[in-house]
Amino acid sequence: AAQSPGAAAETAASTAAPPKKRRRRGKRKKAGAPASVAAAEPIVPAEVKPKSHKTAPGDASMLRPTRAGFIRMRGKTDNGRRWYQEVDPELAMTLVREHAAVVINRHTIRRIYSNKEFRRMILTRDNYICHFCGKYGDTIDHLLPRAKGGHTTPVNCVCACNECNQSKADRDLEEFIGSAE
Ligand SMILES: [Zn+2]
Repeated sequence: AAQSPGAAAETAASTAAPPKKRRRRGKRKKAGAPASVAAAEPIVPAEVKPKSHKTAPGDASMLRPTRAGFIRMRGKTDNGRRWYQEVDPELAMTLVREHAAVVINRHTIRRIYSNKEFRRMILTRDNYICHFCGKYGDTIDHLLPRAKGGHTTPVNCVCACNECNQSKADRDLEEFIGSAE
């Protein structure tokens, strides 16, 4: 009794297989008919390769904006949660060039550092020395303030002591208010 289901499956498989084989044979015969096609085969993959848009992680020149004019950026929060946002292509290219992001594909980059990691990276890079006065510092300051279009990128961020950061922030605020009038 146990043999019959197996035998049935075998017969089913054997009956099902021949039509498939016949179809394949038919296709092969048609495709293989012109000898010129077979000869051209090695050339075709070589021509296709450049169209595959292979990207290098550090090559910002590979980036192309989406139809909406943005680059997709993804990353992780300090808690490890994934986030996603669309950014200006110029910012995306800057982040890649400054090694703060890597290219995933033509339209997408991935930010390497979470906010906490970024902060630590800047402070370690600057040896916890204030960019402005040379004393100990553990805050991050934007050289070109965010209010003026400065972004949180490695080149635009420096270590600053509390005092310098605060006085600079106050000055920027004054300038900001002044320019608004
Ligand atoms: Zn300082």
